[in-house]
Amino acid sequence: MKALTFQGPQTVRLDDIPKPSLGGPDDALVRVTTGAICGSDLHLYHERIPIQAGAVLGHEFVGVVEEVGPHVSRVKPRDRVVACFFTYCGTCFYCRRGWFAQCESKTVFGYGKHFGDLGGGQAEYCVAPNADHTLEPIPDAVSDEQALFVGDILATGYFGAERSGVEAGDSVAVIGCGPVGLMAVMAARLLGAARVFAVDMVKSRLEMAERLGAIPIDGSAGSSSDAVKAATGGHGADRAIEAVGLAATIETAIHSVRRGGTVSVVGVPDTMIGDFPFMKVWWDDLTFTGGVCNVPAYMRLLLDLIAAGRLDPAQIVSHRMKLEEGVRAYEMFDRREATKILLTP
Ligand code: ZN
Ligand code: ZN
Repeated sequence: MKALTFQGPQTVRLDDIPKPSLGGPDDALVRVTTGAICGSDLHLYHERIPIQAGAVLGHEFVGVVEEVGPHVSRVKPRDRVVACFFTYCGTCFYCRRGWFAQCESKTVFGYGKHFGDLGGGQAEYCVAPNADHTLEPIPDAVSDEQALFVGDILATGYFGAERSGVEAGDSVAVIGCGPVGLMAVMAARLLGAARVFAVDMVKSRLEMAERLGAIPIDGSAGSSSDAVKAATGGHGADRAIEAVGLAATIETAIHSVRRGGTVSVVGVPDTMIGDFPFMKVWWDDLTFTGGVCNVPAYMRLLLDLIAAGRLDPAQIVSHRMKLEEGVRAYEMFDRREATKILLTP
């Protein structure tokens, strides 16, 4: 089968490799119909996260179940399914408390041997371990393109908005309008925000955020937090959702909220440690929260919201390309020439 594989820093390759087969009784083999390149794939592309040469890439994908192991009961051959970007056991200490993202045996699709050495979704086929948990059937009213988003970035944007505590009438600052930030804009509006301020420095992303109903703030035109304060009577937004992960953008989020406000970080941090404004957070009674999205808790409800016409994440898709064009797709995405690229085998 054809698959995009990591070959070294900024080098991916379209390879012909053996079609994978079931590795255990809980597995399902999925024929991928659509995969996507995620912002976090660029961490691998630049080897900021270690990954071995030859690893198949891709953790965002939908497809059709082709074969299941004898223990799989929730999905069956010919079902359309979306994969959670990670696998989880469903029975460990954390899974039983509903924190699936903290599963003690979690593995991640398309992330190489340090994350369980699973295959990836930027390929024609992918094996999903613990398929009854990892895969979610797609309702008829939801397209493959729409469903793809619930396995990672829509769930992450929604999680960020929910953890910010957004309530009806709130003002919300979304820091960073890459794909996750744009999902956070949609989620904040769905959860009742009166005004959503969208901060970024890329014109096309600000335009997309505006189309989604946000008020754009160009971060290259001066202090973004000052602009948010100016638009909120000098106080700051009620909530901030950070969707970049840089120390500077986390600081912008902290300075964009009013006293008593909440800062919710979903951007993958680019550093292990850094300065943190303890006194400001304490003095201003801020609530600070951050973390990796607990995706499985959101997949079903997001599919239902899409089916009901309340959310349409596929609006942000900028490029639809063939898997064979994957090398060029990575180059374009890395140069920020594309907001979201889908790849079809
Ligand atoms: Zn992703
Ligand atoms: Zn578990």
